[in-house]
Amino acid sequence: TDISELLLSRIRDVPDYPEPGVVFKDITPLLADPGAFAALTEALAGLCLKHGATKVVGLEARGFILGAPAAVRAGLGFVPVRKAGKLPGATLSQRYDLEYGTAEIEVHAEDLGPDDRVMVIDDVLATGGTAEASLGLIRRVGAQVAGVAVLMELGFLDGRARLAPVLDGAPLEALLQV
Ligand code: 5GP
Repeated sequence: TDISELLLSRIRDVPDYPEPGVVFKDITPLLADPGAFAALTEALAGLCLKHGATKVVGLEARGFILGAPAAVRAGLGFVPVRKAGKLPGATLSQRYDLEYGTAEIEVHAEDLGPDDRVMVIDDVLATGGTAEASLGLIRRVGAQVAGVAVLMELGFLDGRARLAPVLDGAPLEALLQV
């Protein structure tokens, strides 16, 4: 479709970043293009409304850049999921495995509750580990999951399969598939 071509044309492949053999999908050219950024925001906001979300959760850091304007456009509140140690209030935290070692993410416990239906937004779904951990946090605070929406899904890493159990039937929406 038109919007897919526009979005794809503004994503830059950076070979051997952050390590040899990895091709990093750089979205900064898309962010710098006001038409493409607006089209992306509109598409993500539409997915939030389509799936009945009442809140947007953005994953640090590029999920903030995409999720916040989408939340405003859809008329929804925004809740950041941050790397451990950044949020000042009472948090729930979740540890998850990386290729080497582990990572930990947190959310303010009082920002989400049982009345919330959450759409999780991030730029790229790779292995799915980050999204999986964020869904764990959302379920532990007792909120409902409206879905996960990403700009780009790296299909060869099979994050979709990893997320399936914790999605529990909620949709995974990817605007672009690679
Ligand atoms: P995962 O946990 O799914 O393996 O990794 C997803 C996280 O790493 C996301 O927060 C995403 O921003 C980042 N990430 C992994 N690969 C890429 C990439 O090629 N491009 C960008 N922009 N982000 C990536």
